Amino acid sequence: MTETTDAIAGQPQHNLARAVVWDDQVQVAAIISTEMVNESIRRHHLTPLAAAALGRGLMSAVFLGLNLKSNDTITLRILGNGPLGGMITQAGADQRVRGYVGNAQLELPLSPQGKLDVGAAVGKEGELFVTKDMGLKEPYNSSCHLISGEIAEDLAYFFHQSEQCPVVVSLGVLIDVDGSCRSAAGYMIKALPGIEDSKLQALEEWLQVLPPVSALAEQLGNPAEMLHALFPKDKLVGLTEETWAFGCDCNRQRLERLLINMGTKQLKEMIEEDGKATLRCHFCGDTYDFSKAELEALLKEIEG
Ligand SMILES: [Zn+2]
Repeated sequence: MTETTDAIAGQPQHNLARAVVWDDQVQVAAIISTEMVNESIRRHHLTPLAAAALGRGLMSAVFLGLNLKSNDTITLRILGNGPLGGMITQAGADQRVRGYVGNAQLELPLSPQGKLDVGAAVGKEGELFVTKDMGLKEPYNSSCHLISGEIAEDLAYFFHQSEQCPVVVSLGVLIDVDGSCRSAAGYMIKALPGIEDSKLQALEEWLQVLPPVSALAEQLGNPAEMLHALFPKDKLVGLTEETWAFGCDCNRQRLERLLINMGTKQLKEMIEEDGKATLRCHFCGDTYDFSKAELEALLKEIEG
């Protein structure tokens, strides 16, 4: 049956691998997110600079969301003083990640190193906020100052501040001349609280010689290979693979709620002035149309 081959070819490829090294005291994860970034470019019409920033933000949300359970979500807000105008990314326990930037059309001169200047776009001053929503009344919030606006460094600093353990994050997004993403990848190496001094020393020595992620992503096809390139094979324990994708949890019911929450006055204005409404989800760019009759039904629901 030829279908068998098709089914295998159509299966989503694992794009995240994780494991532990040095006897369960260091967690490592690697991601290849080229498709994810291309989907965000397609949905938000991002310039190369905006795509580089959002790509790093999406990978950061994935790293923050690695241990989410059931319906949990984690939201990363990076609000710097640069012209990008802020960035929000969100990951769910369902292994979908989404996000947007304030200014999708931003262009800036290249950095002195000839790279897309994400640090200048985000801004070197500002705050990073993480909100973990576990379906309880109060979501869990934490935050830190931005270090450089380059995102990887900022995320590492956040982990260090909140968990008091050394973390290395490396994120790279390479945009092609046609504006699409050629490769995007990242890795995170995180010592767990209470790590023994000797292990920490070994890790720190190891970190000195690690290649930058951009060098790895171009050569290696999958994230498990990336982990094997980063650590000796006998040091990696319990390697597992996952598939993360750009995807949203918005739906029509949620946007109906939003319209209802706008209140009677605004809803009436929409009905009388436009006779319809189109709402766009910031996170994924999907649009939802509401006809006059549907808006009137919602108005009735409020008034009833
Ligand atoms: Zn959405």
